[in-house]
Amino acid sequence: MSALIWFRRDLRLDDNPAWANATIDHDAVEGVFVLDERLLAGAGELRRSLLLDNVRALDEQLRALGGRLTIVHGSPEAVIPELSGRHDAVYWNRDYTPFARRRDAAVEEAAHADVECFDGAVVHAPGAVLTGSDTPYRVFTPFYRKWAETPIEPWPAAQAVTVLTSSDTQLPKAGRPIIEGGERGARERLHRFIEVVDDYKTDRNRPDIDGTSRLSADLKFGTISPRRIAEIVGSTTPGRQAFVRQLAWRDFYAQVLFHHPHTVDAPLQEDLASIVWANDDEAVTAWKAGETGYPIVDAGMRQLHTTGWMHNRVRMITASFLVKDLGIDWRVGERHFRRLLIDADVSQNVGNWQWVAGTGADAAPYFRIMNPITQSRRFDPDGEFIRAYVPELASLRAPAIHAPWEQPLEAAAAGVTLGETYPYPIIDHATAREVTLRRFEAARESTRNGKDDGEQAKGTGGSSKA
Ligand SMILES: Cc1cc2nc3c(=O)[nH]c(=O)nc-3n(C[C@H](O)[C@H](O)[C@H](O)COP(=O)(O)OP(=O)(O)OC[C@H]3O[C@@H](n4cnc5c(N)ncnc54)[C@H](O)[C@@H]3O)c2cc1C
Repeated sequence: MSALIWFRRDLRLDDNPAWANATIDHDAVEGVFVLDERLLAGAGELRRSLLLDNVRALDEQLRALGGRLTIVHGSPEAVIPELSGRHDAVYWNRDYTPFARRRDAAVEEAAHADVECFDGAVVHAPGAVLTGSDTPYRVFTPFYRKWAETPIEPWPAAQAVTVLTSSDTQLPKAGRPIIEGGERGARERLHRFIEVVDDYKTDRNRPDIDGTSRLSADLKFGTISPRRIAEIVGSTTPGRQAFVRQLAWRDFYAQVLFHHPHTVDAPLQEDLASIVWANDDEAVTAWKAGETGYPIVDAGMRQLHTTGWMHNRVRMITASFLVKDLGIDWRVGERHFRRLLIDADVSQNVGNWQWVAGTGADAAPYFRIMNPITQSRRFDPDGEFIRAYVPELASLRAPAIHAPWEQPLEAAAAGVTLGETYPYPIIDHATAREVTLRRFEAARESTRNGKDDGEQAKGTGGSSKA
């Protein structure tokens, strides 16, 4: 009796229900990873290198067990059914994006063996945390309350098993990953974080402090399970509780996308569907390049380029700047982040972009617009984060570093020539704010009018019938 285990975003052996159940139910297992060009082509260089390194690390773990990972180029819809014919069953952990669900349904349909699926990517699977009337939550706080009191059914432990393989394909060459991959890298990051987790509540918003776990790419590729993280971190201090709450946000967005798959491309809040976005390629180019003239925005965008990761507070500031200052459609920013982030995860990225845009689940109201200068002063008070990524401002002290154009003499004394060594702001925040408020109000007004027209049409229909 043998099983095929299709590894996807669960590149680990610890706390992996598909792996554990396959080893319990079968004497021999074959693990496979499919290099799917559709996914590889959409990934920036840094994420691609990390993915390949994570697959390499999993292969090493399976070699230590006497086999190796089967690596196949192609589309899973063809590869998995073909391999499944040599086994009694196929095991995998579910992924909840619309793309993954379509792909998995096609694989299941074509498989020549039983299919067993598990929820190894989340603490609580979509559908496990519902309102009293069995509907999905759209607001985080009640979701979190229910999430925290939902018992965690433990997954079984894996058993000793013979590891098979049916190919000797090597992984493509990739650059050195930006962080250490595999389960070992994830464990090291977690242990480093444990040393500072008790300060998480106060430090988590400070991009100038290394106060967050940096486990997002591990959660994206599944080199550690979110349940294992929650178990090790525990909830004995406010810092630990605040951290585990973030894992609940992750589950929250996974279930929002699961229940509302159309929100990959469309706003969850339908009254904002008719926003007329600005069309300004030059502004988008400046935003992507970190050349907007707003130091905190530019530092964040350059952090994304050089490291493939960006601090959460700065993700909010840069996203808000694109949508609420430049008036650009959130989908433009979402696609850019999706390509470059090493932790890019459609449900998290879309959920957060829609949150910032004010169009999503539990979103900030559209009229709450982040001011990039006050955010910068508050969360990077000494300008250390800016200095790390915008070297042309390195000699400027706070507070001038947050808005150099407001203190031109200081800027000049620090060797900053606005318009030459560093750009002037590409837009005036106060003016942009007014334009954005009008843009959002117009969309709501147009939806209201549409509804009123609809009501009138219904009324007219009714009277004519009478
Ligand atoms: C515009 C925007 C886009 C984002 N895109 C992504 C994305 O593609 N992939 C992604 O994993 N996260 C995304 N996030 C959420 C968040 O920024 C990252 O998860 C976090 O910065 C990762 O760093 P960390 O692991 O050190 O986080 P920590 O602060 O250590 O948090 C621990 C874990 O909790 C989860 N988490 C933390 N904050 C959030 C949040 N706001 N929403 C959902 N889960 C959260 C993550 O899994 C994270 O690894 C985005 C946020 C914004 C504002």
